[in-house]
Amino acid sequence: MLVARTVGNCPSCGGEQCFGNVLIEHDHILRGCGRCSYKSYYPLPLLPRKKVLYLDQNFFSAAFRNKIDPTKGQPKIIELMERIKYLAASQALTVPLSSVHESETRQWERRKEALDFLKITSRGHEFEREYKLERIQVLKTFRSWLENLNSAYIVDQKEALSEKVHEWDGYVFVDVESDRVSGLEELARKVSSAENLVALFDEWRNESSTFHEDFLGELEGQAKIYLRAHFEWFKAAAQGDMGALLSTPIIEHMRQQLPKKTNLESGLLVCRNFFKSEHFAKVPLHSITCRTHATLKHEVMLGAYVQRDKALVKLRGYYTDLDHIAHYAPYCDAIAIDNAMAELMKKPSVALSENYAVKVFSLNTADDFHAWLDEIEASITDEHHEALLAAYG
Ligand SMILES: [Zn+2]
Repeated sequence: MLVARTVGNCPSCGGEQCFGNVLIEHDHILRGCGRCSYKSYYPLPLLPRKKVLYLDQNFFSAAFRNKIDPTKGQPKIIELMERIKYLAASQALTVPLSSVHESETRQWERRKEALDFLKITSRGHEFEREYKLERIQVLKTFRSWLENLNSAYIVDQKEALSEKVHEWDGYVFVDVESDRVSGLEELARKVSSAENLVALFDEWRNESSTFHEDFLGELEGQAKIYLRAHFEWFKAAAQGDMGALLSTPIIEHMRQQLPKKTNLESGLLVCRNFFKSEHFAKVPLHSITCRTHATLKHEVMLGAYVQRDKALVKLRGYYTDLDHIAHYAPYCDAIAIDNAMAELMKKPSVALSENYAVKVFSLNTADDFHAWLDEIEASITDEHHEALLAAYG
C-alpha cells in the first residue's frame, strides 16, 4: 500500500517505519504497510460542521506576497491568514475557492506558486461554479413561484458546496483549475469597469429616483439580459448554429419547467411575469447585486465619492468583489472582504449579515474577525485534537 504518512513499524511483518496512514475516509483512517498486505482502521470522531469562510482575493494576495517576500504583505492580514490556515488544517474551518480566485491569481507574479498556495489554504475545496449557482437559484425560485409558495428563498448550503467539505480532509487535494482570460486582460477589464462606473456618478447626482425604484430598475435590467440571451440563442439555433446549443440560456431551463403543451409565446409571457414577481426579487444573487447597485447610487446621490481619483481606487474591484459576495456570501458563516465593500454590505438597504446570517469582516474589523476565530478555536475538543494528531501528525 502507498503510505501517505508513516506512523511506525508494521505490527504484522515487523518492517521498520513502513506502516502508516494510507487514506482518510469519512469516519476512519485506513492504515497499511508499505511492504506487506497488513491493514487496520483507526476510527475518527464525527466532526462538527465546519465553519465556512469566504476570503476574497485581497487576503490571499497579501498573504502570498508575504510568503514570497516576508517584508511585504499587510501584517494584520498575515496574522489572520496564519490562524485561518491553522483552523482549516484543524478541520474546524473551511475556506473554499471559487473560479474568481483562479482568474484573480492570474494578475499575480509567480502564478504557478500562487495557485499551489491557494490549493494548500483551501485544501482543495471549491464552491460551485457561478453560472451553475445562478441557474440553481433562479430555477428553484421559479418553481416556488409557479407553485404559489412563499417568496422567501431558503438557502441550502448544498447548492454551493459539497457536503464533503464537512468531513475529514484527505491527503490529496484536488487540483485547482487554471483557465481562460490572461491576468493583464483581467486587470484592464477591472480598471475600465471602474472608470465606466465612476463616469455615471455625475448623472446620478442629478437624479431624484427612490431607492426602491432603482432597485426595481436593476432587477428589470437583469430580466432584460435573460430575455436578450434567450432571443440570441433562439435565433442562432434557428440558423443551425450548433455551437449556440451547447450553452442553454436560463429562460430555456425555465420553459422546461412548464407543462409540455405550453407554446413559446405563452412560455415567455410566464417568464416575464416571474421576472416582475416578489420571488424573483428575492433570488439571493440578484437581490444582493441589485440592492448594492441601488445603494451605491444613493450614496453617490447623497454626496459620497465626490473625488474621482479616490473613487476609482476605492471602487476598482467593485464589480468583481460584488460578484463574489452575491454568489457565495449566503452560503457562508463569514466573509472577509475589503473595507469599502464591507461598508456597503453593512448599509441598511443591503444588510447582508441580517438577511443571510453571514458575518462580514474586513481589516477595519480585524478584532471582531479574531474574536470569531477564537470561538472556533475554543470549540475544538481534546478528542478532536487527538484525532488530528493521528490523521495529520
Ligand atoms: Zn508489513
